[in-house]
Amino acid sequence: MTVGSDPELLAFAGRLLERHGGLIEPGEDRLLTLLPPELAQVLEAPEESEIGGEEFPLLYGSPLLDRLVHLATRDAPVAYGQINFSYLKKAGFEQLLGQELIFSGANVRLASRAEARSTYLVLICHYVALSDERKEGLIRLGLHEGSGALIPELPDLWEAANPQFFPVAKAPPHFPVRLAAVLKYGLQHAPGAVERELQDFLASMRRRLHRDVKNTREYYEALRLEMEAGLGHPQLTDSQRQERAAKIAALPQEMARKITDLEQKYRVRVTISAGAAVRLLVDVVQLLLELEVHRVLRSVTVIWNPLTRRLDPLVCESCRQAMEKVYPTPLHGRIQLLCFACSRRSSGQGSGVS
Ligand SMILES: [Zn+2]
Repeated sequence: MTVGSDPELLAFAGRLLERHGGLIEPGEDRLLTLLPPELAQVLEAPEESEIGGEEFPLLYGSPLLDRLVHLATRDAPVAYGQINFSYLKKAGFEQLLGQELIFSGANVRLASRAEARSTYLVLICHYVALSDERKEGLIRLGLHEGSGALIPELPDLWEAANPQFFPVAKAPPHFPVRLAAVLKYGLQHAPGAVERELQDFLASMRRRLHRDVKNTREYYEALRLEMEAGLGHPQLTDSQRQERAAKIAALPQEMARKITDLEQKYRVRVTISAGAAVRLLVDVVQLLLELEVHRVLRSVTVIWNPLTRRLDPLVCESCRQAMEKVYPTPLHGRIQLLCFACSRRSSGQGSGVS
């Protein structure tokens, strides 16, 4: 059998493997490779192998290609930029507090306002969905680095604000050193975003599964009727009749097996990896709010974001979901900022409002 690797894929693999210390000898439709042990382990291939050959075919959808793509994005490049605004909103924040950010059941007072800087992350993720077909693409997520709050409009807005980029070594010290926590928040949001992106693809797989299952059921029903009709044939011996009756009895099981196979065939497996990240230092307005719930006080900092021209959402202090409607809930003498579901759960424990 000839495998017929795609020349573009072979070229991509060759460049990538060389960059990771592999030795490559390109053949007509495959690559002879000598890989350093660590690289061979990552790719789950022997140190000496023929990539693109029958043993390691390099095709869309092949596990080897997935591992190569993972390798290519493992060390996602990070760019650093700054966005300055010569004019920031100065007034009218009280009004936004009842509209863009709502604190349910709390007295809210705007204590102070200051111009500040905050850091944001635009995370670009690559996804591959494998089912009866393959689909891949990119999604972009915007997050506030400090809180991990998802800011859905950010990926569409930051470029138009003309960021100034820095070489990594000269990035200003404002960025939190550890990116891991923000990346984790980002990757938590990625599956939902990919699912929205794949809506049509998922629907198409579901439709095909439904169609094939329906056809399978109809086929087995017709087969059963035909076989049952055949049982009445006068020339059948008793043992032949028993044999056929047993076959009929086994049909539902056989059909169930076929349907399980179909479900496997149309199951969608998605892999997501971080492709690249842009970290942005942005001029913002920081508002200090004083909240009061049942005579318990707490101050809260919120950000007016000049990119989205609105207040950034806050994050539930229990489940980390971004929220525009906040349920400040007194708990052990302290106000917690919770989403509706978490505030319900918390007052259900009877530990809340006194
Ligand atoms: Zn919550």
